[in-house]
Amino acid sequence: MSQPLAPTARPRLALPDSIVPGQIRWVYAVPIVGIHLLALMALVPWFFSWTGLILMLVGVHFYGQAINLCYHRLLTHRSAKVPKWLERTFVVIALCCMEDTPGKWVAMHRYHHKHSDHESDPHTPMVAFLWAHVGWLLVRNRSTHTLESYSKYAPDVLRDRFYMNLEKSHAWVLIYVAHAVLYFLVGFAIGAASGGLAVGLQFGASLLVWGVFLRTVVVWHITWSVNSLTHLFGYSNYETDDCSRNNWFVALLTVGEGWHNNHHHDPVSASNQHRWWEIDVTYYQIKLLERLGLAWDVVPPKHVRDRRRRQVKEQARSDRHDATQG
Ligand SMILES: [Zn+2]
Ligand SMILES: [Zn+2]
Repeated sequence: MSQPLAPTARPRLALPDSIVPGQIRWVYAVPIVGIHLLALMALVPWFFSWTGLILMLVGVHFYGQAINLCYHRLLTHRSAKVPKWLERTFVVIALCCMEDTPGKWVAMHRYHHKHSDHESDPHTPMVAFLWAHVGWLLVRNRSTHTLESYSKYAPDVLRDRFYMNLEKSHAWVLIYVAHAVLYFLVGFAIGAASGGLAVGLQFGASLLVWGVFLRTVVVWHITWSVNSLTHLFGYSNYETDDCSRNNWFVALLTVGEGWHNNHHHDPVSASNQHRWWEIDVTYYQIKLLERLGLAWDVVPPKHVRDRRRRQVKEQARSDRHDATQG
């Protein structure tokens, strides 16, 4: 049954011992602060265009789903399989979110599942809301931000040469920069063709600010809200060894990831929808891929897996019985 739990159900935790507070991870801090500042240009009317606004809204779903569907369900939890070319395409789209390489993202999320809301959890809000939301990204963690940790928690991902190369090179930065430049150039070309240089500059800049910078920031906060809000606010269907909650607001923003207590109860399931009204659009998209022949081995929920296991056992028992009778 659903149990509304108080946000303070678990006592406050101190920062993990493995955190080095003075050691800022500049490679994360600079883009996070920088792109937030660039996104603020959306407040200046000159940068506005309806196309930019539409690109931002569509982009939140398009790029955000590469994180939810690919980084999270396909790569971290192996909830389904897709062709390699499609998986890598999703990863390239996910890199346009500036949310880390697949190896690091997967390792960190598996680490979170293993230590959820305990001292070693890299981003539990039991330390503080802002810590779970963004703070943990900005300082070095001696336990998780190491090559050993990445290879221990994401060996399957790093075995793929394409993903390993992303760790060894700066291609992930180049991909982000290249897609931002492309947004500007396409906007500039369309604007310049219809109204001259000034129109081209304004239109290109609007696509860049709204379609790339603001969209990046919105996708960040949506992803981060899974780490912060869904471990604090909402109801739980299951008693899990953590503070995960089903949060309808985050579920709406993330098209299904907010049913986080369901997810912590059954992480490998492709579906987070455990009740009919816990709509999980990400799961529907996986099923659509399956229909199109682009996904297979879609992992069903635990109760279905248990039922299938029981059926297989019963069938084996009945076969043995028939054999002895025969
Ligand atoms: Zn969680
Ligand atoms: Zn997960």
